[in-house]
Amino acid sequence: MKTLVFIETDSGVAVGSSWEALGKALSLGGEVEALVIGHAVEAVAAEAGARGATKVYRIDDPSRALFDLELYTEDVKAVLAETNADALLASHTGNGRDLAAAVGFDLGVGVIADCLELKAEDGKLVGTRPIYSGNILVDVRVDGRPQIATLRPRAAAPAPVTGATAPIVDVAPAAAKARVQVQAVERAETGEISLTDASIIVSGGRGVAKDPDLGFKLIRELAQVLGAAVGASRAAVDAGFIPYKYQVGQTGKVVRPDLYIACGISGAVQHLAGMGSSKVIVAINKDAEAPIFSVANYGIVGDLFEIVPALTRAAKAKLNR
Ligand SMILES: Cc1cc2nc3c(=O)[nH]c(=O)nc-3n(C[C@H](O)[C@H](O)[C@H](O)COP(=O)(O)OP(=O)(O)OC[C@H]3O[C@@H](n4cnc5c(N)ncnc54)[C@H](O)[C@@H]3O)c2cc1C
Repeated sequence: MKTLVFIETDSGVAVGSSWEALGKALSLGGEVEALVIGHAVEAVAAEAGARGATKVYRIDDPSRALFDLELYTEDVKAVLAETNADALLASHTGNGRDLAAAVGFDLGVGVIADCLELKAEDGKLVGTRPIYSGNILVDVRVDGRPQIATLRPRAAAPAPVTGATAPIVDVAPAAAKARVQVQAVERAETGEISLTDASIIVSGGRGVAKDPDLGFKLIRELAQVLGAAVGASRAAVDAGFIPYKYQVGQTGKVVRPDLYIACGISGAVQHLAGMGSSKVIVAINKDAEAPIFSVANYGIVGDLFEIVPALTRAAKAKLNR
């Protein structure tokens, strides 16, 4: 099976989760090639080779500096025709999901979107994805060729840099003009560390219920000292303690930080689905029998309202902040 992986770029830099799509494609076996579209993306194309793609197609043009669905769709279709790939894989970012759907529509093939897992069976992609608001996980195959799938960010490890090199094939842009022109992109400045990019996350659950405002204030203080992002369980979100964008889990964000500190979170399977691959898990819970302790590397049995500020004080002293 030959897989073409779309490497998304932003201002000449690869979108991190594209390397996860590449990593997943490599784990499927077979031949893996990459397609980099953007402007001034020479380094990204070289990195795709260093991370294991055997050939890299590059469309490097000022007209591709900003993601433009119409232009990118034509580019991807042209490269798919040239490589004769059996499968196209992209990260399930906003742009990745748009692109996969548009390419699938034009080619008349199905798309397995938002996969949490992907495998190859008899030369066919099988994607595991949530349906019915995450109540059920289903295995999906699609008819037609190429098979197209998108992989949820953080659902796989990025392809490691091996130092390999791959031939880079420059391809001319397939179309010059689109009906809609993207003129600029304005970024929302939240000043917060993004949950999906964070290497440390401090999360709060229903355990803050006796004083949610204070609970999340303490969690935010610890996060700030550690340079961490703040996360939450669905129970905390459903109770209105914190907005949905902070939710970690099966129906929230999938995260893979180096350190995940769960405060007052019981460890339901749907929460673990979003953070179980964290490198080190620390759980703070007043119930020694809470299931979170069975996945935690370090457990603290006690009241988060006492332990979180104590950790913040200790971290401040240790890190000199
Ligand atoms: C289809 C579906 C999808 C779902 N998706 C998600 C999802 O994406 N993310 C998610 O998180 N959940 C999800 N859930 C919900 C999940 O099943 C749990 O209900 C939820 O994770 C529980 O959140 P919690 O651990 O904060 O609350 P609880 O299970 O109520 O746990 C609270 C914990 O806090 C501890 N505690 C209480 N007070 C303190 C204190 N003062 N100090 C320390 N510890 C204290 C308690 O001992 C308890 O262990 C989903 C459920 C369904 C059915």
